[in-house]
Amino acid sequence: MVPTAEQFDVVIVGGGPGGYAAALYGAGAGLDIAVVERDKVGGTCLHRGCIPAKELLETAHVYRTVAGAKEFGVLADQPGLDFGATQARKQKVVDQLARGLSGLLKNRKVTVFSGEGSLAGDGRTVRVTGGGSGEGGSGGGDVELRGEAVIIATGSVPRTIPGFDVDGRVVLSSDEFLALGSLPRRAVVIGGGAIGCEFASTMADLGTEVTILEALPKILPGCDEDVVNVVLRSFKRRGIDVRTGVKVTGHSPGDGGTAVQVEGGDPIEVDAVVVAVGRRPVTEGLGFTELGVEVDDRGFVVVDEQLRTGVEGVWAVGDVIAVRGWDAPHPQLAHIGFVEGMQAIKGILGETVLPVDYSRVPWCIYCHPEVAFAGMSEQAARDAGIDVVVSKHAYGGNGRAMIIGDAQGLLKVIATAGPDGRAGQILGVHMVGPWVTEQLGQAYLAVNWEATVDEVAAFIQPHPTLSEVFGETVLSLTGRSLHG
Ligand code: NAD
Repeated sequence: MVPTAEQFDVVIVGGGPGGYAAALYGAGAGLDIAVVERDKVGGTCLHRGCIPAKELLETAHVYRTVAGAKEFGVLADQPGLDFGATQARKQKVVDQLARGLSGLLKNRKVTVFSGEGSLAGDGRTVRVTGGGSGEGGSGGGDVELRGEAVIIATGSVPRTIPGFDVDGRVVLSSDEFLALGSLPRRAVVIGGGAIGCEFASTMADLGTEVTILEALPKILPGCDEDVVNVVLRSFKRRGIDVRTGVKVTGHSPGDGGTAVQVEGGDPIEVDAVVVAVGRRPVTEGLGFTELGVEVDDRGFVVVDEQLRTGVEGVWAVGDVIAVRGWDAPHPQLAHIGFVEGMQAIKGILGETVLPVDYSRVPWCIYCHPEVAFAGMSEQAARDAGIDVVVSKHAYGGNGRAMIIGDAQGLLKVIATAGPDGRAGQILGVHMVGPWVTEQLGQAYLAVNWEATVDEVAAFIQPHPTLSEVFGETVLSLTGRSLHG
């Protein structure tokens, strides 16, 4: 028998970035919060996504650095790889962050219930089943929770394609890839999006022979074409075979590996296939449709721009949502989960919620070379019929880039063109090259503050830094330049 429901101000189903951000922010605002999590708080990002993937990319970076040390006069042996130690370090970082997060939730008196949460009653009752003892809170076992408001933050899981059932041995999703005990000698990565490129980059740097099979005409959909071309050149130099416009039809497992079939081409013999073709929302069996929470034909929970479902008091955030009126796919990014978690709490508190402008969110892809952008690409601006002026600068002439020995890349600024052809508002900044994911901040601010070229050109960039490339690219749009 289920005991009487425990009461909270907000009950959150899912403890990933969307859910835990809502919990921390809401608790900080004085709300009594419960989080229901069936696995571990931290979700995909911390345990099976962003953090472990970037940790493995960092190993690839260290490997490349050691391999190139001689150029700096540092005489080290050629690197070898102890992948067990790599994985152990990755796990240590994940565990440390997980302990930190649990501590934060505990300090803010968020009650975490471990178990499967599903909506019941009028949508503001959450049934928790199959639970163990509550992590960091009082919850445990089967319980019913009652919230003044409920936030759905159930996230997403890897998609696969017909003929490629994940077996964890030869066919891997991102979940299995990040937990591998050793790297394959030869691998096919299906899908050349963010995950596919990050994994291909990691494996290639650590000695795997990699082929990327992408269905579309180009990899990294959504990225500016000049940026993609820089990535492609680097991938080619590092031996990654990128095939685009490819139809993958199936695979035939053999001795320890498999042969991947592509339409009109020879089979590709590999030890592992990594499927990275996107992620699907987690909504089945959670009582959403029964209660009238709208779920679209791809399984996403439909919300308005205030993140409200159609059911009174039920909100949804993160990878699981589709925002009504926003045509492009909703960005499945941890930082979007964070901001939506906070927005939902503001809405619950009755505060004004400025909708997220999904066309200007920061994007960072951590393959080598890194990619980072915010706002419109050149093509997107032209497709929208906007007159634009564009300025590009290569990292090749930048002192800091030469010093660190990583000068391949470019930065591109897209701005409106006035009737006199002069550059006006900055619409987009697209970067590829050394540490661009750490340089995006000021570009993001410029785009989202709707700053003009003249305003940003007046800012001082410290010397010598990689960020001088941003300053120089904006300066050129004023019609004058320093080093351009
Ligand atoms: P994605 O949608 O970014 O890319 C998937 C790619 O697979 C696309 O290029 C698509 O055309 C291709 N594809 C689909 N079906 C195919 C098929 N049958 N054969 C060949 N190619 C096929 O998805 P992802 O890379 O799996 O990432 C999932 C989500 O997580 C995305 O929303 C992504 O933005 C996000 N993510 C972001 C980052 C980052 O920003 N650093 C990192 C990882 C994941």
